Amino acid sequence: NVSVVLFTSDLRLHDHPPLRAASAGAREVVPLFVRDRAVDAAGFAAPNRLAFLADCLRDLDAGLRERGGRLVVRSGDVVEEVCRVATEAGADEVHLAADVSRYAQQREKRLRHALRAEGVRLHVHDAVTAAVAPGAVTPAGSDHFAVFTPYFRRWTQERSRDVLGAPRAVRVPDGVGSEQLPVYRGVSEGLAAGGERAGRAGLAAWLRHGISAYAERHDDLAGDATSRLSPHLHFGTLSPVEVVQRARTAGGAGAEAFVRQLAWREFHRQVLAARPDAAVADYRPRHDRWRTELTAREDIDAWREGRTGYPVVDAAMRQLRHEGWMHNRGRLLTASFLTKSLYVDWRIGARHFLDLLVDGDVANNQLNWQWVAGTGTDTRPNRVLSPVAQARRFDPDGAYVRRWVPELAGIEGAAVHQPWKLRGPDRAAVGYPDPVVELSDGLARFRRARGLG
Ligand code: FAD
Repeated sequence: NVSVVLFTSDLRLHDHPPLRAASAGAREVVPLFVRDRAVDAAGFAAPNRLAFLADCLRDLDAGLRERGGRLVVRSGDVVEEVCRVATEAGADEVHLAADVSRYAQQREKRLRHALRAEGVRLHVHDAVTAAVAPGAVTPAGSDHFAVFTPYFRRWTQERSRDVLGAPRAVRVPDGVGSEQLPVYRGVSEGLAAGGERAGRAGLAAWLRHGISAYAERHDDLAGDATSRLSPHLHFGTLSPVEVVQRARTAGGAGAEAFVRQLAWREFHRQVLAARPDAAVADYRPRHDRWRTELTAREDIDAWREGRTGYPVVDAAMRQLRHEGWMHNRGRLLTASFLTKSLYVDWRIGARHFLDLLVDGDVANNQLNWQWVAGTGTDTRPNRVLSPVAQARRFDPDGAYVRRWVPELAGIEGAAVHQPWKLRGPDRAAVGYPDPVVELSDGLARFRRARGLG
């Protein structure tokens, strides 16, 4: 008997329910990854994520080879390829991790239909949530939680399953052809390395050295004291069940605060599972008449390129371009700046993030953007973050700005946050742009647009 395991956002061997189920009873297994044509066509194949993905696939292949197996890689239409591989291997079942985007839900449906016609069973497992699978808990009268705090209360009450070990051996049937693993270029210079090994090493280091100070330090922009595990959680090179359980074992206030962030990830996933249209349309329409590429081209370009004249915004936007990653506090304040101070459509910002983020994730990115824009699940949709106040609070000494905005590296202390206050010749000497908008004008425009008087 032969099973196919279709890997998608679960590129690991440890704690992998589909692989465990597929290999039960000493079955032969075809570990399969399909480079999906539709993902490229939809513009989701950003170079940073493709490069990280290539690392993940190489590492998965290496891990499988150590166990006597190998990874089969194909490209094309994912459903056609799975059917083709199932036929070549003589498989009678296919295992897959459930996922929440509209595309993933449709993929599962198409796959089920196509495999049924071939007499092959499809088994779908929960492999991307730590505690609560999307839709498994709901509040009275709704199919999902729309507010985080009550969701989190439920989430903490759920006991997650035990962590599964990696398989000792994987037997792959002969005669199933594989393509070469791709190589990618043109990526961010400071891009992190992908793969399960890198993920596990990152998790171990985080539990040893980082997590205990997370509660106090996670918002410190210059301190860079978050786990940076997001790309591994996005590609599933780390299992969220294992991350949560090991964090809980580490214990303390830091671990508690960290686990709460992982619950945010699952909160957004259950929203998107119930409302897949929230990837593109307002979750709670506020009737905004956003500025767009047609009406705010120069402002949008300045934002994308990190030359808005607000140093902390520009620092974060440059970090994004350089590393393919941005600190959460940076994401919050740059998104607030674009949507509220410049009154630009959140979809334009979300698209730019997805073009560069190595952890770019439909659920987390689109729903966090909506949260900041006030069209999502924030219960205070009209709050506006001032980049100057944010900078003073989360980069009090200005070290983060000096790291990413070299034009300002010579300005000491918090003065770096307001270069427009420098005196005439000093200001000209730094060669740094004037602010694209006065914050009070931006705020007034936003309040008018939202009918706040
Ligand atoms: P840590 O602080 O160490 O947190 C641990 C993990 O918890 C993260 O890896 C992530 O999986 C999860 N997490 C933390 N904060 C959030 C949050 N607010 N929402 C959901 N999950 C969270 N995260 C993504 O993974 N992909 C995205 O595309 C993404 N886009 C974002 C866009 C905006 C506008 C904002 C405000 C946030 C976005 N986030 C996104 C959430 C968050 O910023 C990142 O998960 C975090 O910065 C990743 O760094 P870390 O792994 O060091 O996080």
